[in-house]
Amino acid sequence: MKHRPRSAPVMHGSCHRLARELLWRRASDRYPEENTAMSVHARGTGTGNGNANPSGLPDTGNTAGRRVAVIVGGGPAGLTAALELARRSDVLPIVLEAGDDVGGISRTVVHNGNRMDIGGHRFFSKSDWVMNWWKEILPPETPASTSDAVMLLRGRLSRIYYLKRFFDYPVRLSAQTVRNLGLARMARIGVSYARARLFPRTPEASLEDFLINRFGRALYLTFFKDYTEKVWGIPCERISAEWGAQRIKGLSITGALVHALRKLVAGGDAKATRTSLIERFLYPKLGPGQLWQQVAERVQAHGGQVLLNRTVTGIEMRDGKAAAVLVRDNADGSTQRLSADYVVSTMPVCDLVRAMDPPAPAAVRSVADALPYRDFITVGLLLDRMNPGPDGAPMPPDNWIYVQEPDVQLGRLQVFNNWSPALVADPSKVWLGLEYFCREGDALWSLPDTEMVALAAAELARIGLADTGAVLDSKVVRVPKAYPAYFGAYADFGVVREWTDTIPNLFLVGRNGMHRYNNQDHSMLTAKLAADAIVEGRTDKSAIWSVNIDDEYHEEQVPAQPEASSRPTPVAAE
Ligand SMILES: Cc1cc2nc3c(=O)[nH]c(=O)nc-3n(C[C@H](O)[C@H](O)[C@H](O)COP(=O)(O)OP(=O)(O)OC[C@H]3O[C@@H](n4cnc5c(N)ncnc54)[C@H](O)[C@@H]3O)c2cc1C
Repeated sequence: MKHRPRSAPVMHGSCHRLARELLWRRASDRYPEENTAMSVHARGTGTGNGNANPSGLPDTGNTAGRRVAVIVGGGPAGLTAALELARRSDVLPIVLEAGDDVGGISRTVVHNGNRMDIGGHRFFSKSDWVMNWWKEILPPETPASTSDAVMLLRGRLSRIYYLKRFFDYPVRLSAQTVRNLGLARMARIGVSYARARLFPRTPEASLEDFLINRFGRALYLTFFKDYTEKVWGIPCERISAEWGAQRIKGLSITGALVHALRKLVAGGDAKATRTSLIERFLYPKLGPGQLWQQVAERVQAHGGQVLLNRTVTGIEMRDGKAAAVLVRDNADGSTQRLSADYVVSTMPVCDLVRAMDPPAPAAVRSVADALPYRDFITVGLLLDRMNPGPDGAPMPPDNWIYVQEPDVQLGRLQVFNNWSPALVADPSKVWLGLEYFCREGDALWSLPDTEMVALAAAELARIGLADTGAVLDSKVVRVPKAYPAYFGAYADFGVVREWTDTIPNLFLVGRNGMHRYNNQDHSMLTAKLAADAIVEGRTDKSAIWSVNIDDEYHEEQVPAQPEASSRPTPVAAE
């Protein structure tokens, strides 16, 4: 690729104004406590600006002599694509973000000085490219660091809370586990495991079959069934065994024993070192959104644009290519048209297909419309104190806790203090995130905030972790489409992929953008590959689709242990 010397983007008058409006606040204005959005919101770009394009947004495409990549979504994937293009080519990236802040699911929500991480985002990757990219944006903290713009190196602890007791995660065959479960229950687990090995279920059709065959019915009922069903909202017998094979690959009781033994004798060997690496992770001091806010600033510094409160509602096709996008300004409801040489989409696949004009073939629409998702609510609770734990500690040391108690809807509990002390305004308080898995529009999703907070506080009290009277402040965050699910219409996803792949200048990347269970690193790698293709003039998408396919990713790092916080599979044996 021949790189032309970088020059300021050629824009019509109103575009200059728009760009000025959209410029990110200076570093000194960063992290306003009262408002998570850092950018000056785009407003007033409608008609009447004298531009040749009656839509308001100038036609910044070929007429300016510079190719335009419209990037739908300002999450990790969209911003990675934008920064790669801005740094490495003369293609002008324009990021259109529907929300009022960047970072997508990986944003930080600020509430009264306290910061919430939706889901708890560990920054860990097997890819050196990703690790170096992150560290270049936010350098790891050193004793000499004076700035907040750093990555902390954090230790990971996550346990299971069940029977009002803490169990190691992944579940270990330790004396503590035996004490917690009691001898009678352990004996039942042993017998049922032996029975499952001697008389496995055949054919192994469902996730329930898969788990019982590997762990026995008693262990399945103790640690897998309730939590998995809480997360996915459907019975384990309706989830395919293939899903289990993909998500829980390499796990077995035998594997657990071997691993436990290996750990015992490994001492300081290489494998143990690799394990300890994933048990520590990088974490932006002010939460994951801090990193993505920095990336957005860099995109702008390199001449790209990041536009907030802009929802892409249409993709106009011409001659088999994506020619323009329709953008709704969420402030005034007006719609504008923006020409595109390339479209990089991180919007949910169902929305993308619905937005196509002319419409996608009926077969593609029917699969895309039926793609399943699981949605997510986080309730931030600021507590004066928690009930002391069994060891008398005022606060559990965990980053997050899987809640297995069957009599509450609560799925997981984040202890934000333990991710970064800087997430909490007053270090003497406990700042928690209570996570609920639900379906957009269902009874839980539709609860008014006050009732959602009351439910969360009552459940925390019911499982004995804190009294309702200890709650000082709260914040409810609803996250639609947090988990693209791999059942139902997903079986026919190939129909969608084959069709979108025929559009040479349209690139599907990221998590919901590809309907793939991608973490930040995988989302970024797909975005990088899309940027590579654009820079090198390639239209083949197979490399992008091959990211995160053979998921050896964490298994290579931690034998017999599935990924943790973003992957809702609760329990593994280590
Ligand atoms: C509970 C949970 C825990 C997680 N933990 C981890 C972890 O520990 N480590 C890790 O690396 N990853 C983790 N992840 C995964 C991580 O959040 C995602 O991989 C990442 O955010 C995906 O980036 P993305 O840009 O593809 O999508 P998103 O983050 O979803 O961003 C997409 C953006 O597009 C915008 N958008 C959507 N539609 C439109 C439209 N029509 N027009 C304009 N904008 C639009 C959205 O508003 C959003 O900002 C976790 C995820 C969850 C749900």
